[in-house]
Amino acid sequence: PPVTVRRALLSVSDKTGLIELARSLHALDVELLSTGGTAKAIRDAGLPVKDVSDVTGFPEMMDGRVKTLHPIVHGGLLGRAGLDEAVMAQHGIGAIDLLVLNLYPFEKVSVNPDSTLEDIIENIDIGGPAMLRSAAKNFARVTVATDPAQYGALVAELNANGGAISGKTRFAMSVAAFNRVAQYDARISDYLSSINVEDGSRAAFSAQANGSFVKVMDLRYGENPHQAGAFYRDLWPVPGTLATFTQLQGKELSYNNLADADAAWECVRQFERPACVIVKHANPCGVAEGVACGDAYELAYATDPTSAFGGILAFNTKLDAATAKAVLDRQFVEVLIAPDYEEGALDYARKKANVRVLRIPHGEGRNNVDVKRVGSGLLMQTADIREVTREELKVVTKIAPTKEQLDDLLFAWRVAKFVKSNAIVYAKDHRTIGVGAGQMSRVYSARIAGIKATDAGLIVPGSVMASDAFFPFRDGIDAAAEAGIKAVIQPGGSMRDSEVIAAADEHGLAMVFTGVRHFRH
Ligand code: 5GP
Repeated sequence: PPVTVRRALLSVSDKTGLIELARSLHALDVELLSTGGTAKAIRDAGLPVKDVSDVTGFPEMMDGRVKTLHPIVHGGLLGRAGLDEAVMAQHGIGAIDLLVLNLYPFEKVSVNPDSTLEDIIENIDIGGPAMLRSAAKNFARVTVATDPAQYGALVAELNANGGAISGKTRFAMSVAAFNRVAQYDARISDYLSSINVEDGSRAAFSAQANGSFVKVMDLRYGENPHQAGAFYRDLWPVPGTLATFTQLQGKELSYNNLADADAAWECVRQFERPACVIVKHANPCGVAEGVACGDAYELAYATDPTSAFGGILAFNTKLDAATAKAVLDRQFVEVLIAPDYEEGALDYARKKANVRVLRIPHGEGRNNVDVKRVGSGLLMQTADIREVTREELKVVTKIAPTKEQLDDLLFAWRVAKFVKSNAIVYAKDHRTIGVGAGQMSRVYSARIAGIKATDAGLIVPGSVMASDAFFPFRDGIDAAAEAGIKAVIQPGGSMRDSEVIAAADEHGLAMVFTGVRHFRH
């Protein structure tokens, strides 16, 4: 049933809309109680208001840490209609029918780089959430507002109903108040989880970085049809990442489509020149840079035409009509990704209505936290966004790579970062010629890359090899030399580096160390 509001407690950090609200309440003969700053603002506007400290007989103390934590206040909010009147009368507790409260700005202060830890801690509101919970729990009688955006509707309802609020509204406002408290506490917990107690520094990530997700869609199923699946994005997705996609046409995206689209897009967006990446089962099976997206596609496709069938294709430049036609006429495509499309390219894609076409606008950001679920736990790490520069490379063999080989080595290195370990990438002229992925020994990845390159007829003089981690033995180098590789890029750092370097020298190979490893599992 509707409850007439006779007494209200106002305690707000954000004073937006406060005076207007207080004036409306006063006009409805509502008695106003308030805390320090809020009471002053209301009084300054010429409206009558009682200080909570006068009502409780207790002053505000400890710089505001204790203001309203008193049975007179909480009894006034929690007292049940028809049940608690006698005990309230016995202890001189007057009912409070409306609580208008917004919390200390913890969220704002904690993200301000100028805030000290002390400032941030002081902005943890104690009495505020306590009152919100008291009022919200007692929605059977009490109305609670937590946000200036609610004041307008609140006043409208009061005015329209002779100063009363309906049960439906009280319940809705109670839910909103509990939502707000939960959100607020989560922020405090996340912030504190990210603090290093030893030196007060903040970690690269906290639970918060992985706790605020918004559902984008339910998926038909997960990795397999008997698994359920859904796609969530960060509350604030990083510009330029998969979560910012628009699907322009095609069948519903699947779990695997999205996982592969992410791998393809993250790989292709790192290149400056027009590039194409073809992904199958989370691994690139062809990558190339070209003068335009058309030749990049042709080169990427030629690496491994067998695997390219049913692939996920990503381009880092606007896709033109001719390339769209070349791709879609030639091969079955699961997903096509580009930052933009020529109208003609979209016209052409419409002829293949099943093909999922995604637009992902370029953006500077990178996803900076990776998460992996492990049996009843979570592994978190900063994302692998490390890039190796030319200057960091250390030549370790008697002969150094030529300028062309160096370019190709860096190209292969960038691709290797997106190939599952053990990753071996053979490349030449800014294109992959063979990829060995996901083997449990490095030498087999090297041999597979060699078989692929040979089968595709792409081994040519001067071809290069990238390895995502060091060679533990010389056998990987031997396999590469046998396949016709002339230069190698790898992190180095093995116990047997000297044996591996000697093998490279023996075969007349050039080899550079990056000092950086790119495991990807
Ligand atoms: P005012 O500006 O009126 O002095 O303070 C309003 C703020 O104080 C509101 O954000 C409210 O949530 C908060 N508040 C009310 N009672 C207490 C209390 O007992 N302890 C603390 N720490 N904050 C309170």
